Amino acid sequence: MTTPPPSPWRRLPLVIAVATTTAVAIGLAPAANADAQTPAPSRCSLTVPVNPRAEAPASCLRATVSLDRLPALGSTATVHVKIDSQVALSRAAVSVRVTESLELITDGSSLGATRADGSWSKAGGALPLPAGSRTVTFQVRARAAGPAQVEADVSDATSPSPERSAFDSTQLTVGKNSSRAGADFTSLPGKATASRGVGNPKTKPAPSPAKTKYQVALAPANQICVNGGFQYTDNNVNRTVANATIKIHGKRYWNSSYELLAIGQTGANGGYDICFVPPVNPMYALQVEHGTTNSVWEVRNSSNYYYASWSQERFTTYTGTDWAAGYYTSTAAQQRAWHAFDTINQFYSVRNSPNGCWTRHEANCTRIYIRWWSGNTDGGYYVPGADAYASYIQLRDNDPDSEHLVLHETGHAFHHRLYNFWWPGPNCAGHQIHVESSVGCAWTEGLANAFAGYIKGDDRFVWPEGSWISLMNTTWFNSAYWVSTTNWNNGDATEGRVAGSLIDLWRNVDGGMNSTINLLSYYTQSTFFEYFNERGYQDLDLTSTSRNRLYSHTIDYRQVLGNNGFESGAATWSWTAPGTDNVIGTWGTYPARTGSWYAWLGGYGYDTTTSLSQGAGTPAAPSGKPGKVQVSFWSRIWSEEAVGDPAYDILQVQVVDGATVTAVGSLSNVDRSNGYVFRTYDLSAWRGRAVTLRFMADEDASLRTDFIIDDVQVTYNQN
Ligand SMILES: [Zn+2]
Repeated sequence: MTTPPPSPWRRLPLVIAVATTTAVAIGLAPAANADAQTPAPSRCSLTVPVNPRAEAPASCLRATVSLDRLPALGSTATVHVKIDSQVALSRAAVSVRVTESLELITDGSSLGATRADGSWSKAGGALPLPAGSRTVTFQVRARAAGPAQVEADVSDATSPSPERSAFDSTQLTVGKNSSRAGADFTSLPGKATASRGVGNPKTKPAPSPAKTKYQVALAPANQICVNGGFQYTDNNVNRTVANATIKIHGKRYWNSSYELLAIGQTGANGGYDICFVPPVNPMYALQVEHGTTNSVWEVRNSSNYYYASWSQERFTTYTGTDWAAGYYTSTAAQQRAWHAFDTINQFYSVRNSPNGCWTRHEANCTRIYIRWWSGNTDGGYYVPGADAYASYIQLRDNDPDSEHLVLHETGHAFHHRLYNFWWPGPNCAGHQIHVESSVGCAWTEGLANAFAGYIKGDDRFVWPEGSWISLMNTTWFNSAYWVSTTNWNNGDATEGRVAGSLIDLWRNVDGGMNSTINLLSYYTQSTFFEYFNERGYQDLDLTSTSRNRLYSHTIDYRQVLGNNGFESGAATWSWTAPGTDNVIGTWGTYPARTGSWYAWLGGYGYDTTTSLSQGAGTPAAPSGKPGKVQVSFWSRIWSEEAVGDPAYDILQVQVVDGATVTAVGSLSNVDRSNGYVFRTYDLSAWRGRAVTLRFMADEDASLRTDFIIDDVQVTYNQN
């Protein structure tokens, strides 16, 4: 679409550079004088809407703001507001506003006393306005370096309407010794890195270098741009809020209702800059709504509605202008809601999702709902429902004071989504970090604690009152004393032990949480033991490096087979194969998964069997406790059998218990792969028994299949 040329009248007063050379009587554009001499027309024609499709009529009023000079820091300048009117008004409301960098001095003017308007100063008065022109003057003193702005707003106080209103503004940048026309808007908060709005809002193009020297980079001719930001106070420190929803509402006329004009979101610095095409020009009033909501999380009140904070109203905004609405700060009543909302930003930024949603499962993002209201005494938990709408976090009044607690509950919500809304845990109400609960609760609660301590970087859990506990306790339980926060239970049924182990792995072995997040998005684990054993699916470390770290957190998952990576050759293993063939070696046919040795069963192409076994037994259970024993290994299978053929050549994973042989797993030519694949099978039925683990390859009469095995492990959990 073509952009109509800007109204020549409205651009003229911006050429205020001439004021620096001529001291008086400036800013009176010749064309304006000509207009001012004409009698009141039947139709207003002074300010013509820039957008020809705008529904706003031309106005009978116009205002022109100019300064007699550009004041340097500490000095004053006289501001002229020339008001042209095609009609006689008995009472014209004139109001002027200046940014905080200017002091507004209205002594001796027709304006009243100055008063604060947000960070601005404002003054106004009502005066009769004959048809023709009249000038209101007042003074400003530059009191801070940086961008400054002077605005004037004129309307018919008796019968306000868009046709009887006018607005103008001028910008300058105050300098220490000399000032210049135009404002350095890129230095204003929210302008540089703010995110653009979504939906209706338009993108504002970069300022054109071809513009007049002193012209300011304002909104495109047919748009209004609003910029500002949002912040809250936490422990007397102001913090900006990213990813909060910004809604621009507006009134077309004085008697219209507010309508939603544009929606955007705050950027990393809490700022926004949203441009839109208004339905009329000028907009009678604008107002900014800041809300604790976005498409992936929302902090709600007891009525299940997000918290909204509203700016003051701004009247008479023309297209082609910016409204610097400023940074609004949360009221004390909403402060904790905003703090909780902002805390979730910390989790969102590390979620490791391939899209903007929480997890890869969500094609359409789900929202995490957080319910908080002042005075609430029931909370500090996550309710895992069947879907996002039925699931929510509930927080007590002061819970948002603990970012760890908010991150812990968000961790549950995230875990729930990684499992695609399946929830593994029993009800863990009343659980404590240092006390043994169950392997199920220790997993879900330990993971939530690990998320919080790792994201915060302090490895702690901090309660809302400020007390805290380190999750990195490596002291074993002393049975001579009662369990306490300094004498934790051992093992993987104690959530603090699980949390410390996870943080230790993320920080010192895995290089972060991402692989764990991936693993949980593909496999669902009900216990930390399952999680640890399935780490092989993401090729995460399962060697003594990791197992020893867990052991330092009193979780004993030590591997019990001897020479489990075959790096000591034949030691501890026995085998059967045709002739004098070896089953363990360093052949160059395949690479070992780790080191240089591996086991090779099969590979003959005729009816024969090969076996590999170790009689290490399985770990004995500590008295009276159930527990899981697992065998895991990596296999690589190559075959001459045709792809799509059934299983002709078989590799069984067997437990030999006296005369009884049980197959716990079976692989075949069907399971061929070009690389090593992680396999894990349950041996819990033989816990504590002196059994033999055996791999048995059985080939049929023709066509060869190679079964390659490396890094075999038999592991157990002690609970
Ligand atoms: Zn929890």
